[in-house]
Amino acid sequence: MLELIFIGTGSAIESLNRFHSSFFIQTTKYNLLIDAGDGVSKALLKQKINYHSIDGIIFTHFHPDHFSGFGGLIIQMEFLQREKPLQIFTHYKLIPFVKDYLHLSYLFEKRISFDIEFIGFNHNETFSVCDDIQIKSKNNTHIDAYKKYDEDNKNYFSSSSFLFNLKDKKLFYTGDIASKDDLFLFYEEKFDYMITEITHISTEDILEAVKLLQPSKLYLTHISDDDGQKIEKIIYEISAFNVPTIEAVDGLKIII
Ligand SMILES: [Zn+2]
Ligand SMILES: [Zn+2]
Repeated sequence: MLELIFIGTGSAIESLNRFHSSFFIQTTKYNLLIDAGDGVSKALLKQKINYHSIDGIIFTHFHPDHFSGFGGLIIQMEFLQREKPLQIFTHYKLIPFVKDYLHLSYLFEKRISFDIEFIGFNHNETFSVCDDIQIKSKNNTHIDAYKKYDEDNKNYFSSSSFLFNLKDKKLFYTGDIASKDDLFLFYEEKFDYMITEITHISTEDILEAVKLLQPSKLYLTHISDDDGQKIEKIIYEISAFNVPTIEAVDGLKIII
C-alpha cells in the first residue's frame, strides 16, 4: 500500500475551509508527514490520522504555515506518551535552529518520552527515508529575497522542492516557490504526479511548465479562499495539454 493524503491545502492565509498545506505519505512500513504548519495537529485529527503513526516529518521551509505547528504536534505526541522515535528531516544546516526552537518551547530531549532523531539532507543528493521512499531536494528561490536580512551571516536560508521516488512512481512537489525556474528544477525527470502550489506563481508559468513537463497527473494546492477563478482558468487551459488536473482539497487521497 502506498497512499498520499492531503492534510491541508490552504495558503498562508487563515481559512475556515482549508488547513495550511501539508500532506502525508503512508507506506506499509513508514509514514512521512511533509510540513507541519500552524494547526497541523488539528488537521491530522480531522483526517483521523493517529499521531503515533507518524514516523517522520520533512520540512520544505520554515514559514509558519509550513513549520509552526511542529512544537504543538510534539506536545500531542508527548500527551499520548509516545515511545517510538520520531525522525526529522531538514536541510542539515538548519538542524541547530530546529533544536533551539524545541528548547525554547521547553521540549527538552531529556524531558519528552521519545527520541527525536535529526537527519540532515543536502540539496541535489538523493536520500532514503525507507525502502519505498527516496527523496531528492533542490533549493528553490522562495525565500531568496530574505537573504539581505541575514546580517550575522548565519546562512539559515533553505527552501526545498522535492522529487519523491515512491516505489516505481515519481512525484514532484514544488513546495512554496517564487519563480518560473523553480517549476523546472527537475526538468530532466518524467513525473507520474506533480503537486504545485499556486500562490506564488502565475497561471501562465504553471501552464508553460505543465505543457513542457507533461506530468501524468497534476494536483493544485496552497489555495486561498479567493483563488476560485485562478483554479478554474488553470484547469480549463490545461485541458488542452491532456494532463488531468485536480484541485486538491483537505482529505483528498491519491493511491500511488
Ligand atoms: Zn506557504
Ligand atoms: Zn512559504
